[in-house]
Amino acid sequence: MLIEQAPAQRDRQRLNRLKCEHSGAWISAVPSTHDGNDTVLRPRNFQVAIAMRLGLPVLDEEKRCSLCMQTIDVFGDHAACCSVSSDRIHRHHRLRNLVDRICKEGMLSPIMEKKGILGPVDGRRPGDVTIPIWRSNKGVAIDVAVTSPFGSHNISLSLSHARVMHKRKNTTNTTKTSKAQVSISYQ
Ligand SMILES: [Zn+2]
Repeated sequence: MLIEQAPAQRDRQRLNRLKCEHSGAWISAVPSTHDGNDTVLRPRNFQVAIAMRLGLPVLDEEKRCSLCMQTIDVFGDHAACCSVSSDRIHRHHRLRNLVDRICKEGMLSPIMEKKGILGPVDGRRPGDVTIPIWRSNKGVAIDVAVTSPFGSHNISLSLSHARVMHKRKNTTNTTKTSKAQVSISYQ
């Protein structure tokens, strides 16, 4: 009901993504530096994250992105998906490293960015983290995707559709390794 009455596509997208499982887990998580200082949000970052969750402006007025000169509106969406900034790559690598660490702690012998698992094909990315033995004597390649639901390509896509699009892009023909995906969507 609330979604149907939302005045703009951005609001409908925001509300739809808030329905996703675990989308609000970070709010009730107990702050802890057990896994490093990066796991605790600074107060200003927390304020911005809450404002974005509630659909409130995070800027007083529109600004121009200093990297690509695109307009950053008062909701600040562009900052999370600027293709010139390397922030998305940094976030991807940090998540990939976290998955790798969890797998190591679970003694799964993970291999990061394993080469050659897709066979002799060009332009296909390997899995970010490969676990050699997962199930039925087969391995699994875990792919981490960092996306923004408010990016121009994603604004009208449901999460499941966005996952399908990403999966198509990375479809593999390997038979020895199945592929799993970790999708992290920033709001
Ligand atoms: Zn930009």
